[in-house]
Amino acid sequence: MVRDAEEERGVVLRMERGSTHDGEGFRTVVFLKGCPLRCWWCSTPEGQSFEIENADEKVYGRVMTVGDVIKEVKKDTAFFFHSGGGVTLSGGEILSQPEFSLALLRASRANCINTAIETSFYAPWSVIRDIIPLVNTAFVDIKIFDQKKHEKLCGVDNTLIMDNLSRTNEVESALKLIVRIPLIPGVNDATDELAQIGKFCAGLKRLRGVQLLPYHRLGVDTYRKLGRPYPLSDIQPPEPEYMSRCREIIRLYVKAVF
Ligand code: SF4
Repeated sequence: MVRDAEEERGVVLRMERGSTHDGEGFRTVVFLKGCPLRCWWCSTPEGQSFEIENADEKVYGRVMTVGDVIKEVKKDTAFFFHSGGGVTLSGGEILSQPEFSLALLRASRANCINTAIETSFYAPWSVIRDIIPLVNTAFVDIKIFDQKKHEKLCGVDNTLIMDNLSRTNEVESALKLIVRIPLIPGVNDATDELAQIGKFCAGLKRLRGVQLLPYHRLGVDTYRKLGRPYPLSDIQPPEPEYMSRCREIIRLYVKAVF
């Protein structure tokens, strides 16, 4: 790695070692700070602002260099090797710190570390085009199919996201694409809405599967600490039968649904 790339700086919310939910094998997840969306159910509200925040005697975020991050990630190289794991960049929105994310992915590849990203794909295509060749697996959310509803509940409309997903059909790469749907009861779980998402996903050439993520309330306490209201106070996490019903709808269009 050349010295300049190693010294590229970004704002990291936190790093978590040993995750088994953010890609294959054991993974170190690097959460970057800052996101242009404002999903009502966001479980990481402390990742939304691009600024480092102080709240409830806690500091959310710190400036790190690529060298700092990779040094931490390399501590688990042996676990990555034996489990097929690696590093996952998550957020916030990693594409909102494009230079830092690119440098992290390049450095990971230079160290033979498997790479995954978790992203909304809300970024110019030029950013995504440059990042894709450095990524083994991309987890991309489709939160809501309807453009206007997406704008209301996520703060931006989804045209850019859907266009970017479609454009992954054009790239020459071994990218594994997993579409994730955060299932919010009563919000985005209507049969026709899930069917539209399923049909759309069926047209994605790089798709390896669709993952349904049940709504949870893990971020609620963080809203309180940040002094912000939680927008979905009345919704409860879904039962397993509900998840199975939603999976069956998507399975009409895509075989691999988990
Ligand atoms: S895209 Fe993710 S980090 Fe950003 S507001 Fe939505 S749920 Fe939160």
